[in-house]
Amino acid sequence: MWSVVKYVADLLFPRLCPVCGKELNAGEKYVCAMCLAQLPLTRYHTMQFNPMEQLFAGKVPVERATGYFFYERGSRHAAILHGIKYHNQPLMGEWLARRFAAELNGCGWLDGIDAAVPVPLHRSKMASRGYNQSEYIARGIAAVCGCRVERLVVAARRHETQTHKGQHERLQNTVGVYRASANAARYAGKHVLLVDDVVTTGATLLSCATVLKQAVPDLRISIATLAVARLQ
Ligand SMILES: [Zn+2]
Repeated sequence: MWSVVKYVADLLFPRLCPVCGKELNAGEKYVCAMCLAQLPLTRYHTMQFNPMEQLFAGKVPVERATGYFFYERGSRHAAILHGIKYHNQPLMGEWLARRFAAELNGCGWLDGIDAAVPVPLHRSKMASRGYNQSEYIARGIAAVCGCRVERLVVAARRHETQTHKGQHERLQNTVGVYRASANAARYAGKHVLLVDDVVTTGATLLSCATVLKQAVPDLRISIATLAVARLQ
């Protein structure tokens, strides 16, 4: 019965690949097999002191950092991130995060992680968007490695859009935006994975990691994002 409903729904509302626009077949979820195979993976988790780890080096102690695929504005695969972020497709983010986490888990990268901590959205942004995409990504990772999702960082004030700002301005712009939540202290001596949808300059993640470290000095922090922006 359910398969009939699904069949009719697919006829009425064909599910399309956000990258190539092709109709997805029954075995495909969110992104077609061809576009998925062509996803520009960073494979940062296989590199020593990878470019993402270099981004945080000397600024805040980070155990390890990685991102799943490269994001370039205007590229074919950019539609995936836009769908997750702006077009009400957070479940696509969760699904991709599961695939990413399975790869990370396979090489022990997620070993010892006690909780996945999403970068928060301020409640006014949450109200207009309806969801926090980073939370879905954190859920996908947590489901694979068997850890909890914990909201240990809170967005204390709204910050302006960062899109058109330079690196220094972005850093200034995040001061006072985040604070650690009261239950962060429960993670003293533990290892958390800070999760965001995309890393660009790293200012947002740096700011979240910094408030966590200030609140819980012996907290160990690693970072995972779904996408890594290639800066032009
Ligand atoms: Zn496709």
